[in-house]
Amino acid sequence: MSKTTVFSIPFDDVSLEEAAERAVAMSEERRSAIAVTPNAEILLAARRDARLRQILQRADLTVADGIGVILASRLLGQPLTHRVPGIDLAAAVMAKLAGKGESVYLLGAENGVGEQAAERLQMRYPGLRIAGVCGGYFNINEEETLRREINAACPALLLVCLGSPRQEKWLDENAGKLHFGLGIGLGGALDVFSGYKRRAPVIVQRVGLEWLYRLICEPRRIGRIARLPLLFLAAAKIRLGGNQA
Ligand code: UDP
Repeated sequence: MSKTTVFSIPFDDVSLEEAAERAVAMSEERRSAIAVTPNAEILLAARRDARLRQILQRADLTVADGIGVILASRLLGQPLTHRVPGIDLAAAVMAKLAGKGESVYLLGAENGVGEQAAERLQMRYPGLRIAGVCGGYFNINEEETLRREINAACPALLLVCLGSPRQEKWLDENAGKLHFGLGIGLGGALDVFSGYKRRAPVIVQRVGLEWLYRLICEPRRIGRIARLPLLFLAAAKIRLGGNQA
């Protein structure tokens, strides 16, 4: 499968529909595959964090979550054409899995949020089975129980919503010990699926300003956003220097 490399991370430049089809196939295979959905923040972090970078490099499916990744790819002269927000990918996969009576395990977020998300997802996707729910603030002693629970359920889809890079590292560390179809690190997706947080209106998403909407709703994100120009500067520098990204 051809990949487009952005800052040494090979991306699958596929539409939402194609990504969802591949993800469903992996979910059904039950080989503990991993999908990652880097945004600009994650790409920037991966430049400094070798472990995160390696995890992103060996993922089974990699889609560009945010407009920042698309911009960086253009600056690098290797433009990605498709933006596939992780949350949209997960929703499309769950819609397809629901029709097959398949299951999803929800890991992450504050206590109670996963349960609320489970209820709403079952209403939205009749037929979808909830294999289990676990909040994201577990301690190391609780991990063995969590692993046993996931293994007993062997879910088609494992949504890991612990924030980046914790979720990618947790999945990477545990994939070998766990039985599931496809695991995806999805940041704050459970907060949205539960109704606890709202996504930007569709028009705002379409024009690539979802990051601005989130910043307005959660001003404390400013520190995270403010660093992103560094990514574009690095891309421009690489392009002008003629180096490979
Ligand atoms: N979270 C968690 N465990 C942790 C840290 C964070 O479950 O130890 C959850 C947090 O409650 C939130 C999500 O991870 O639901 C991170 O959300 P954020 O909006 O920061 O992620 P983004 O969508 O920006 O990647």
